[in-house]
Amino acid sequence: MKLLFMGTGTSYGIPVPGCGCPVCTSDDPRDKRLRTSILVTAADGTVLLLDTPPDLRTQCLRYGVKRIDGVLVSHDHADHVFGFDDLRAYTNRMPAPMPVWTSPRTAESLRRVFDYLGRPPLPGTSLARVELREVEEPFTYGPFRVTPLPVEHGRSFMTGWRIEADGRACVLITDCKRIPETTWPLCLGADLAVLDGLRPELHATHLSIGQAGELLLRMGAKRSYVIHLCHETSHVRADALLPEGIHPAYDGLGIRL
Ligand SMILES: [Zn+2]
Ligand SMILES: [Zn+2]
Ligand SMILES: [Zn+2]
Repeated sequence: MKLLFMGTGTSYGIPVPGCGCPVCTSDDPRDKRLRTSILVTAADGTVLLLDTPPDLRTQCLRYGVKRIDGVLVSHDHADHVFGFDDLRAYTNRMPAPMPVWTSPRTAESLRRVFDYLGRPPLPGTSLARVELREVEEPFTYGPFRVTPLPVEHGRSFMTGWRIEADGRACVLITDCKRIPETTWPLCLGADLAVLDGLRPELHATHLSIGQAGELLLRMGAKRSYVIHLCHETSHVRADALLPEGIHPAYDGLGIRL
């Protein structure tokens, strides 16, 4: 199983338009962050995409993504779903609708926001041909076994994912403030764990970088990364705030498990 971090930034992305702060004007390429999405590829070539941010088209072109077989949607915030229509480039070439797994609550929201998805397209037009699959229990898809991980994200819940394939496991949680006790056992013993760490200071709906580091230590994965960073910290400073062996991810980071 291999992973590609196509976006590691918070909802604004970095640089923030119009901002002249040291991080937004940094020369370090790791301080340029598109909105969060992760590509997961199994040894047999099956590809799952985690989230469809507004930058999805740019990301697919930048990383030469040839194939997306299915999508996992974490929650309905704009920075995770507003690139949904970019899936058309892939669904147009698929013989059957592309499966999109998400929680019942997020599925309901997607049906409302993208209400045209269920209608037949007019001649000469195209729609993302997807099949929304509401999941609360583990499921299998090709070589993947996927377990939804409900976590608190401010006032609402979002879905993290434990993804297992080829004898490896990863835990990918993009927008978390607190992990409920019932979810904790599902986060342990992975080869890779990923959590959001928005900034050095505390935040109402996200973990801080320090909190993310503490939780990742508790998860005890062989490798651990922090994502969903905002412009209040550079990559270098975020790295210095994390425990040894835990690092911020950056756009374009590829990992083979
Ligand atoms: Zn800035
Ligand atoms: Zn969110
Ligand atoms: Zn987010």
